Amino acid sequence: MTNDTSALLSAESLAGAAYIVAALLFIFSLAGLSKHETARSGVAYGIAGMSIALLSTAWLALQNAFTNSQAALGIALLLSAVTIGGTIGIRRARVVQMTGMPELIALLHSFVGLAAVLVAWNGHLEDPSLPGALKDIHHAEVFIGVFIGAVTFTGSIIAYLKLSARIQSKPLVLPGKNFLNLGALSTFVGLTVWYVLDPQLWMLVTVTAVALALGWHLVASIGGGDMPVVVSMLNSYSGWAAAAAGFLLNNDLLIVTGALVGSSGAYLSYIMCKAMNRSFISVIAGGFGITASAFKADLNLGEHREISTEDTAELLRNASSVVITPGYGMAVAQAQHHVADLTRKLRERDVDVRFGIHPVAGRLPGHMNVLLAEAKVPYDIVLEMDEINDELSETEVVLVIGANDTVNPAAAEDPGSPLAGMPVLRVWEAGNVVIFKRSMASGYAGVPNPLFFRDNSQMLFGDAKERMEEILQRI
Ligand code: NDP
Repeated sequence: MTNDTSALLSAESLAGAAYIVAALLFIFSLAGLSKHETARSGVAYGIAGMSIALLSTAWLALQNAFTNSQAALGIALLLSAVTIGGTIGIRRARVVQMTGMPELIALLHSFVGLAAVLVAWNGHLEDPSLPGALKDIHHAEVFIGVFIGAVTFTGSIIAYLKLSARIQSKPLVLPGKNFLNLGALSTFVGLTVWYVLDPQLWMLVTVTAVALALGWHLVASIGGGDMPVVVSMLNSYSGWAAAAAGFLLNNDLLIVTGALVGSSGAYLSYIMCKAMNRSFISVIAGGFGITASAFKADLNLGEHREISTEDTAELLRNASSVVITPGYGMAVAQAQHHVADLTRKLRERDVDVRFGIHPVAGRLPGHMNVLLAEAKVPYDIVLEMDEINDELSETEVVLVIGANDTVNPAAAEDPGSPLAGMPVLRVWEAGNVVIFKRSMASGYAGVPNPLFFRDNSQMLFGDAKERMEEILQRI
């Protein structure tokens, strides 16, 4: 054995040990992220695990480079990829607003998908010489990697475009859409078998094109209201795409990490589907079973009433119970600190103040909880939708702060509504409802809200933070 080879072997076993430590840190990270109180340490474990993974992979790559003739080129490529990627990543992460996180995450998922496609294509172009069954397995890995990666790539780009409102959030309903999806899947299965038996370039080109079209179609067919589940499904797909790349690159850590992301994303999607009363299969199959809705968006819902900040302050001063239901608009206005100040002032006056959090309020799971925790609202008064819903009928005043779809009575009362069946906060059962928003516009799902026209509802127009400031001065 030459000195170079033994150095490489010991580098590999050291990297293997570092990968085990990194994988354990990722598991601790997931456990930490499951509760508010431990979320920060969960993030710290994740950063530590990723740093160890990156450093050991880079070190192994450098050792590899030194043992072959193209050392300089290998090192130059590695350093420039890390520098360019790292610089763009740090810049984007520093400037992104909390409200822009979901679209940034969707965009990042698309990179994982693209990377998996490129790794798999490389696996075809540099077909290694392997014996019998191992060769077949390699070919299956190439094909599956291209398929999952390409679906994740275009699906995530469409999700990014919808979340950033660059395209409409309405579901695309193509004629025979379920047959189109089934046709794409059958083509993939049939071509996989063929490719394993007799790999040819045209098959790889075909499956790449079919998977790109399928990813686009699956996500374009999902309506705005179901987008949270799609984002978490794409998170899961990106995990499986990374795992597929891990098999091709013979990288155990990538396989383990990909499987962790894939399975936790799938489980999160399942929990969200249950919370939103949606069929898991229907959502992952691109809205299977959803037909064009008979819902009319331009219904005449009557007249709305407005309220001033003085009258809202008066209402709050005289109330004994107040429930606050925040939504995406609170995040846009960055009103969480003012909301926390109001809560403190009202509690000092012995008003019973609680929060009702819808599972998909905002633009990413847990969005409202994060903002309220940042503003130091005590955890014990922040209740989930199921915990607060039965108590809303006994509540004197509900403040709806920049929420819309998550408090829309049509979800509960109108079977033709695109939101039908989705559980919502039943704020309309309270004595008085004050809705903070800037206009009569619809929410993310693009569905009009009859709540604004109820007898016990009053609109407080304007930016939620500015209106809160005025109320705070009057309490
Ligand atoms: P919505 O998007 O339904 O409504 C937000 C409301 O906030 C709008 O009606 C808007 O009205 C108002 N608003 C915006 N800016 C301000 C401001 N500065 N001050 C006051 N009001 C403001 O939000 P919800 O949280 O109720 O519902 C979330 C929606 O997003 C659901 O449809 C959900 O499915 C979807 N979604 C959720 C994700 C998740 O993971 N949680 C991910 C992707 C989508 P106006 O413009 O008139 O001010």
